[in-house]
Amino acid sequence: MRRLTSCQRSGQGETRTVDTTEFQEALLRKKRELLASEGLKPIGSMMGNSRQGDMADQAEGINEVHIALKLRSTDAKIMQAIEEALERIDRGTYGVCRDCGEMISAARLRAIPWTRVCISCKEKQK
Ligand SMILES: [Zn+2]
Repeated sequence: MRRLTSCQRSGQGETRTVDTTEFQEALLRKKRELLASEGLKPIGSMMGNSRQGDMADQAEGINEVHIALKLRSTDAKIMQAIEEALERIDRGTYGVCRDCGEMISAARLRAIPWTRVCISCKEKQK
């Protein structure tokens, strides 16, 4: 009979299960934030407001849309990552690094719950 307590004491037997409840809540909260934020919704209303006739007005409008699009693409990326993270929670693979398969540290997950990779793989990407 093997003694299981020994590995717990040595600190090597890190559990591979993450308590996802906390992260799921954080992800859903962020998702709601993004949906409610100005970043995702003003495109449509801005399009409706843009006038075709006046050139000066039009140029200004394009500039605003451009800025909104830039914000939007960042939000959309985060949104995508959040959706994927929620899927991983469902599948039970949440918290596992996409690149090396190691567990992502809880501290990192708390900072960025939608992250796909661990800190060392993130560093390698740079
Ligand atoms: Zn990794």
